[in-house]
Amino acid sequence: MTLHDKFGRQITDLRISVTDRCNFRCVYCRSADPENYREHEQILSWSELGRLARIFVNLGIEKMRITGGEPLVRDGAESYIQKLHELGVPDISMTTNGHLLSKRVPSLIASGLQRINISLDSLDPIKFEKITRTRTYDSVMRGIDAVQASPLAPAKINAVLVRGFNEDEVEAFAAFARDRGVIMRFIEFMPLDADRHWSRELMVPAEEVYRRIHAQWPLVEIPHAKSETARKYKFVDGAPGEIGLIAPVTQPFCGHCSRIRLTADGKVRTCLFSKDDHDLRALLRNGASDADIEEQIRGVVTEKEAGHRINEPGFQPPSRTMVFIGG
Ligand code: SAM
Ligand code: SF4
Repeated sequence: MTLHDKFGRQITDLRISVTDRCNFRCVYCRSADPENYREHEQILSWSELGRLARIFVNLGIEKMRITGGEPLVRDGAESYIQKLHELGVPDISMTTNGHLLSKRVPSLIASGLQRINISLDSLDPIKFEKITRTRTYDSVMRGIDAVQASPLAPAKINAVLVRGFNEDEVEAFAAFARDRGVIMRFIEFMPLDADRHWSRELMVPAEEVYRRIHAQWPLVEIPHAKSETARKYKFVDGAPGEIGLIAPVTQPFCGHCSRIRLTADGKVRTCLFSKDDHDLRALLRNGASDADIEEQIRGVVTEKEAGHRINEPGFQPPSRTMVFIGG
């Protein structure tokens, strides 16, 4: 079975947020204020997440990415990945801030993790502290080192550029990609921050990142699948490493979107910018059959939005921001 929306897009990619909790408070994501996390019983149990994974596999989902919040703060990530592996999910990946990663690399690999993205928003420990509001630069770097020394290499490193914080580090990040042989991905800042500070002026367009790197180290594009979010480049001079540009704001890729999301509290979200999410938790907890749940998912996916409206007049960000969604 396969999942399609009313625009004919096939949905093959599920992002699963396994927790709303996080040990960081990145300025572009969370508020500095203490947060009220959801009560544990509001978050799907591992067994509920396992059942949904099986249903999504039956519906033709091929890629599953574990995210959050911070997925490594919840005990049991490895067992869940193993479950996905046993279900035969062809592509299992994770996005993490890297703080708890270095010692977990062997167990993540043993459980069946195939790819990993690590967030790293500055190569300067002081700036890193300002952005993440934590003193964790060294542990994140150890996490990256551990991945680079493992079969998960090359790591994909995600940086969200925010003017006034880290936009001066574009070339340094490119040098990092070359030195370390990592895939350095620049993500445009989206209006999904809890503090609602986003503005177009704070966002650094992918085009600017491209121009600056290309001026120093010429780049050549690597062909990519239409549903891939990143435009990918390698260095013309043959240096190791790769550059990825993800431009949801200035070059939206909604027309080829193959993605949906499951929030930690059990809602399907068909677009990062959806106004409403669709509850599966009540079905799970009220005795619904797998067939009932499949039918609900099919109905929700059919109505997936044509695209986000960030660039339309009067755009309002969704009330549930990145904190709830997972990347
Ligand atoms: N905690 C993990 C991490 O930071 O990698 C996983 C969850 S995080 C929400 C997933 C991704 O979303 C990260 O790469 C993060 O940088 C990105 N992200 C968070 N808020 C964003 C925003 N407002 N605009 C663009 N990307 C954002
Ligand atoms: Fe936590 Fe990831 Fe959001 Fe940073 S981006 S606050 S690490 S969930």
